[in-house]
Amino acid sequence: MPESARRKPQKDDDVQRAMRYSRTKEWLVLIGMTWSALTSFVALTTGASGRLRRWAEHFAPARLGPVMPYTLVAGILGFVTSLPLSYYGGFVVEHRYGLSNQTRRAWILDGFKGLGISLALGLPLAHGVYWVIRRYPQRWWAILSGALVPFTIILSNLAPVLLMPLFNKFEPLRDRALAKRITDLAADEGVRVSEVMQMDMSKQTKKANAMFTGIGNTKRIILADTLLDEFSDDEVEVVLAHELGHQVHRDIWKLIGLQVPVTLFTFFAAHRLTRPIMERYGKRWGLQVERGAADVAALPLLSLVGGTAGTVLGPAFNAIVRRWIEHPADVYALDVTRKREAFVSAMEKLGKMNLSNPRPSTLVKWLLYDHPTLQERIDFGRKYTPR
Ligand SMILES: [Zn+2]
Repeated sequence: MPESARRKPQKDDDVQRAMRYSRTKEWLVLIGMTWSALTSFVALTTGASGRLRRWAEHFAPARLGPVMPYTLVAGILGFVTSLPLSYYGGFVVEHRYGLSNQTRRAWILDGFKGLGISLALGLPLAHGVYWVIRRYPQRWWAILSGALVPFTIILSNLAPVLLMPLFNKFEPLRDRALAKRITDLAADEGVRVSEVMQMDMSKQTKKANAMFTGIGNTKRIILADTLLDEFSDDEVEVVLAHELGHQVHRDIWKLIGLQVPVTLFTFFAAHRLTRPIMERYGKRWGLQVERGAADVAALPLLSLVGGTAGTVLGPAFNAIVRRWIEHPADVYALDVTRKREAFVSAMEKLGKMNLSNPRPSTLVKWLLYDHPTLQERIDFGRKYTPR
C-alpha cells in the first residue's frame, strides 16, 4: 500500500480532532463574550453596581474615593462568576484533548496569580482613568484613547519579560549553535538581539509558541521548550523570521496607529451614549445621573456600550491585521530564509501541536482571526517564490 494511502485515515482523524477542539474553543470565546455582557447588564439593572459604589464610598477614605475599592470587588466578582467557564475551557477541554500538562492544583494557582497581577495593575490604572474622566468630563474619551493605547500595546509587548517569568522559568537557549544562528539572522536584518531564551512552557501545555519581545534597541527572543522539542532548526528559523518581520516592519507602531482610531470610536460611543441612557434609567439603577460617566457605578454601562462598539469594528480590525501585518510577516519570513519547505512543515506542525482549525468558517474567521488561517498560510508558502 502506498505510504499516503496508509496514512490517510490517521490524518483525517487528526483533522477531525483539530476541528472539534477549535470549534469548542470558538464557542467558548463567543459564550464568554456573551456571559460577560450579561453579567454587566445584570449588575447594572438590578442596582447591584450602584449598591457596590455606595458601599465603596462608605468604606474608602474620602481622599481615595470609591474607584479602587469598587474595582477591587467588581474584579473579584467577575473572576468568580467566570470561573466555571474558564475552568471548563482552560482545564477540562485542554485535558480532554491531551493538550494540558497541568494538575488541577497548578491550574488554580496560576489562576489566582493572574488575578493578583491584573488587580495590582488594574486598580491604579482605574484610579488614573477615573481621575481623567472627572477632570475632563467632555474630552476624556480622546485623552484616554491617546494615552491608554500605547500603554497597553507596549505593556503587552513587555509582558513576556515582565510578567511571564512569574509563571514560567526562563533561561538562555541551551542550544548555543541555534542561538547564534538566530542572532546572526536578526543582526543581518539590522535587529539587535540581546538574548535568545527558552521557557518551560511544557509546565502547562503541549502547545508550541515563539515570540520576540522588548522595545527599542535590544530585543529578546523566547522559544517554548515544546517548540524546540518538535521543530528542526530550519523550522525554528522560519518561525522566528516571521517574528523578525514584525520587528523590521515596525508593526508595533502600526498596531498602535490602528488601535487608536478603534479606541477613539469605542470611547466616544461610550461617552455619547452613556448620558442619555443614564438620564432615562440611571435613577432606577441607583446611579448618580448628574455625574455621568464619572460615576464608577456606571462602569458596566460604559463597558457594555464600548464593548458593543468594539465588537462592531472587530472584524474590520482583524481583516486589516491579517492582510497588512500578519501576511507581510509570512512573506518576509519566506524571503529572508528562502526555506519554503521548512515554512510549510512548521505551519503543519504548529497546527498539529496547537490543534488549530485549518479552515474555520467565514464568520469565525472574521470575528476571531487576526492571522490568516493555517491553510491559507500553507497554501501561500507552497506557491510563493521567495524574492
Ligand atoms: Zn505574526
